[in-house]
Amino acid sequence: MPGKSFFIDTTLCTACRGCQVACKQWHDLPAEKTSNRGTYQNPADLSFMTYKLVRFEEVVTGGKLKWLFFPDQCRHCIEPPCEMAADDRKAIFKDSATGAVIYTANTKKLDAQEIVDSCPYNVPRAAKDGTLAKCDMCIDRVENGLLPACVKTCPTGAMNFGDRDEMLSMARKRLSVVKKSQSKAQLLDADYVRVIYLVAEKPSLYHNFAVASNTAFDISRKVALKRLFKPLTDLTAVL
Ligand code: SF4
Ligand code: SF4
Repeated sequence: MPGKSFFIDTTLCTACRGCQVACKQWHDLPAEKTSNRGTYQNPADLSFMTYKLVRFEEVVTGGKLKWLFFPDQCRHCIEPPCEMAADDRKAIFKDSATGAVIYTANTKKLDAQEIVDSCPYNVPRAAKDGTLAKCDMCIDRVENGLLPACVKTCPTGAMNFGDRDEMLSMARKRLSVVKKSQSKAQLLDADYVRVIYLVAEKPSLYHNFAVASNTAFDISRKVALKRLFKPLTDLTAVL
């Protein structure tokens, strides 16, 4: 399959948050006012001005306390439910060369809640005026032959980016190595998304939305069907 992909190896992530800061710096996004919530995860969640967030979880596994880190962002779904829900290519579209899912200022005209609800990974966030935002794959950098800012800054090799086939092959090779010492290791939704995570523990321990609650493909179909029947609903409303 053509286009680009990320491979994010959470077993190499040290939660330095360099990717989080690089994302803000490249997109000129302001810092957020936060409070001490008894965790190093900061800010508390993704937002209109935070496209990338390293999630922290403390778990007890095999009788030992373990920290799990998950650099969360848009997955750039192969068949994006948000794009289908929008049904307006001037607001949300898929870049043909990379597969990046891009949101424009025209998202302001969409039903923000409908788009948020369509995302199986709970990613898009709305500003007060209804404009939606999320990771854009650093499309301006990628189009100019550069790596996304978060990948470029990662010091451990946790964040990788390149042609999709190359990233899938890298992910599968790394999985076979990690599985030798960590039997629960797995790739998350690799066939459905362009951001492929490798996790060593049960996905729900990292984050509620680490995997799609249903498969992204099934959700895409549901959204497409909903859109198909929308005119009938509208007609009923008129009658
Ligand atoms: S690809 Fe760019 S926009 Fe997306 S999380 Fe990384 S730095 Fe942020
Ligand atoms: S992860 Fe969510 S916001 Fe990103 S492309 Fe998929 S549906 Fe859209």
